[in-house]
Amino acid sequence: MAQPLAREVAEEVAKLNGVCVRPVALRRLDLVTGKEEIVDVPCGATLESKCPSCAKRNRQLRMAQCREGWHLAEEPVITPDPATEEQRWLVEFRADMQARRDAAASAGEDTSDWDAVLVGLDEEINAAGMRGHVLGRTVPKRVRSTRRRQDAPDLPKRKMTNTTLGRTFETSDGKVYRPSLFVTLTLPSYGKVRDGVPVDPESYDYARAARDAVHFSKLVDRFVQNLRRVAGYDVQYFASVEPQKRLAPHLHMAIRGTLPRAEVKQIAAATYHQVWWPSCDEVRFKGEHLPVWQDGVGYLDSDTGEVLPTWDQALDELDQDDDAKPLHVVRFGAQVDVKGVLSGTPDADQCIRYLSKYLTKSLGESIDSRAQQEHAARFVEALRYEPCSPTCPNWLRYGVQPKGAKAGMAPGRCRSKAHKPEHLGYAGRRVLVSRKWSNKTLAEHKQDRRTWVLEALGQANEPTDPHRFVWRPVKPGDPDLAPVGVRLLRSVAERQRWRAHLRELEARASGQDLSATGEEAA
Ligand SMILES: [Zn+2]
Ligand SMILES: [Zn+2]
Repeated sequence: MAQPLAREVAEEVAKLNGVCVRPVALRRLDLVTGKEEIVDVPCGATLESKCPSCAKRNRQLRMAQCREGWHLAEEPVITPDPATEEQRWLVEFRADMQARRDAAASAGEDTSDWDAVLVGLDEEINAAGMRGHVLGRTVPKRVRSTRRRQDAPDLPKRKMTNTTLGRTFETSDGKVYRPSLFVTLTLPSYGKVRDGVPVDPESYDYARAARDAVHFSKLVDRFVQNLRRVAGYDVQYFASVEPQKRLAPHLHMAIRGTLPRAEVKQIAAATYHQVWWPSCDEVRFKGEHLPVWQDGVGYLDSDTGEVLPTWDQALDELDQDDDAKPLHVVRFGAQVDVKGVLSGTPDADQCIRYLSKYLTKSLGESIDSRAQQEHAARFVEALRYEPCSPTCPNWLRYGVQPKGAKAGMAPGRCRSKAHKPEHLGYAGRRVLVSRKWSNKTLAEHKQDRRTWVLEALGQANEPTDPHRFVWRPVKPGDPDLAPVGVRLLRSVAERQRWRAHLRELEARASGQDLSATGEEAA
C-alpha cells in the first residue's frame, strides 16, 4: 500500500509540467479534412473548477495584463474585436443550456441546478473576455427617489479631461518619467486581532465584518468614482481582492497615473456606500415557524395568512419613509497604503507579483491554525442569515419575499457564493480591471503568448477559420475516449516535446550571440 497509485503519479507529473489535470474532452469535426477526433480542452476554459496548472496559467496571464496596462504611454483605442472561436463556442453552449433549462421549467421541474449552471457560464463568458451579459439588461433598473441618492462626499473636484493617461515628468536632461500608484485599501477594525485571530471573539463585531464583506465590491466602485472625479481624468486600474489574515477582504490596486498621496488617503476616508435595503433588525420567522409558499400568491405567514411584502413593495415602502435609514453604511478602514511606482522598475515588478499573489487561492483558503479555523467558522455563522443580495432566501427570516421569490426557499439555505467558507461574504470578482487598462481582453493576452511560442518554434500562426470546426461534447463511456491517465501523459509528452524544441532554439540563439561577441572581442 506504500506504493503510489500510478494514476496519481500521472496527475503529479502533469502538474509539474503545467498540463491541465482536469481536461475536458470534446469531439472536433474538421469540416475541411472531414477528420473527426477527440480533443482535450484545458478545464480553465470551461465550467469545471480550476486545476493548479490552469490556475497558474491564469495568474501569469493576469500578471501580463497588469504589466501592459500600468504605464501605458498611448491612449488605448476602444473598438470591440470580432468574437473568437472560444467565445462563440461558449455563447452557443450557453444557448444550449438555456434551452434545457427552459425545457425543464415548462415540464414543471426544479430548475435551480440549471440556473446555477447558467450563472457559472455567464461568469465564464465574462472571463473569456466578453463584456456584459448575453441577454443584455433584462431587468429595468429601479429608479430610486432622488432623496435617497447618495451625496458625493466633500472632496476637491478637477475639471474632467478626456484622457486615461497619467501625467509625465521630464528631468532637465530630457528623461521622461511616468509615475503611477499602488494603493492598498482595507476594511475597518472589528475588534483587536492577534495573528489574524480576534483577541476576544465575544466582542469581535462579526455581524459588521460579515455585512462589510458582502458589500465590499460596491464600496470599491464608489472609490473609483470618487478617484476619477478628484483626479480629473479617466483613471484606469487593475485591482485584486484578497483576504487579510483576519479574513476580511482587502484590495490592492495598480492605478495608471499619479495623485498626491494625501489626496488618495482623503478620497479613501471620504468614500462610503449606503445599502438601501429593507431592515433586518427584527427576526420574524425562524425555527419551525417559516413563511409558506402558495402558488399564485407568494410567501405568507401560515399563522395569520398575511402575505409578506414582495421585494419591490418593501423597497417602495422604504422610499416613502422619510425617517428610513440605510440598512448599512460601509467605509474603508483607516489603514490606507499609497505607494508611488515608476514603470519598468523592480519595484513595479514586485507590486505586480504582489497583486497576483493570492489569485489562485480562494478567500477562505489561507487558514493555517486551529484558532483561525474557529475564527473562520464564526465568520461563516455570522453570514448564515445575512442577506447577500435581493434574491437571497434569507429575506424570509425578516418578513420580506426575496426578489424573484419561488417555491422551496428557506432562510439559511442560500446557495450563493457569499455564504460559503471559501468566499467569506465576498462573492464578487477577484480581479477588477477597468475597461481601458491594457486595451486587450484576457483572450487577447492569451493569444499573445500563443503567438510568441509559435513564432519561436518557427510555425506560422495563421488564424483558423472559426467555422472550420464543429465541436460536440463527448458522452461519458464513449469507447473512443482514452482513460484520463493516458490523456494526461499524452499532454505531458507533447508539452515536453515543445519545451525541448524551445530550449534548443534558445541555445542556438544564445550560441550565435556568444560567437558574435567573440568576433567583436577579437
Ligand atoms: Zn485545468
Ligand atoms: Zn444569500
